[in-house]
Amino acid sequence: MTEIDGMGTDRAFCVLAPNPSAMTLDGTNTWIVAEPDADEVVVIDPGPEDDRHLRRVADTIAARGRRAGLVLLTHGHPDHSAGAERFVELTGGGAKVRALDPRHRLGDEGLAEGDVVTTGGVELRVMETPGHSDDSLTFWLPADRAVLTGDTVLGYGTTVLEGRLGDYLSSLDRLRKFAAERDAATILPGHGPRLDDPLAALDHYIDHRRERLAQVEAAVAGGARTAREVVEIVYADVDRSLWPAAEWSVQSQLDYLNERA
Ligand SMILES: [Zn+2]
Repeated sequence: MTEIDGMGTDRAFCVLAPNPSAMTLDGTNTWIVAEPDADEVVVIDPGPEDDRHLRRVADTIAARGRRAGLVLLTHGHPDHSAGAERFVELTGGGAKVRALDPRHRLGDEGLAEGDVVTTGGVELRVMETPGHSDDSLTFWLPADRAVLTGDTVLGYGTTVLEGRLGDYLSSLDRLRKFAAERDAATILPGHGPRLDDPLAALDHYIDHRRERLAQVEAAVAGGARTAREVVEIVYADVDRSLWPAAEWSVQSQLDYLNERA
């Protein structure tokens, strides 16, 4: 696997947080984004409240004679957002934190569909891509043709859905169309390695969701009634320790099928 810590593009640089787990893969990717000659940077997802990690992000910025001008959050889950306030404190307290969900902001500026951030001269465009969570955002870095997806698309594996499947499928379709139109060069995810074939990655995600949905539909047609019953059929060959998470995901698929019916 490619090295995650230190990966990036001309303008984006990844500092990997030391919080690996089944859900966070290798850990959270904190992204430092800046124009090559700028003295101000944008930090996307400071990560968990882990001083060692937050100091490393701050030191990486300071080592290049720069300062943190702004913090953006892809969504409010603690592995991305919990360290934001402490990070701002560590870097002098001047930076604001912008997020879709007001509860995660520091300062009064929100972040929503169509916003364009230009801190330090770097342009980032904001897209709302709900599904992993209701407040999930994706950032487009046009200068590097890079898509920062947070947990909407991960470097490998699939993402857990806390939001609605219908929203998630729409978000994936939209990202697929956007990536094709803009000829996106790379996906910079919230966990796992960068994906240098964005269309293949998005197609894989979309196919996986459609396949699972067809399996759930077939299980229901075969008489399964509850999420648990569906899991026992569809996930029969999957380790039972993953069944509770699968049940959550199946429930969102059942909701989606019911809404559509
Ligand atoms: Zn995450």
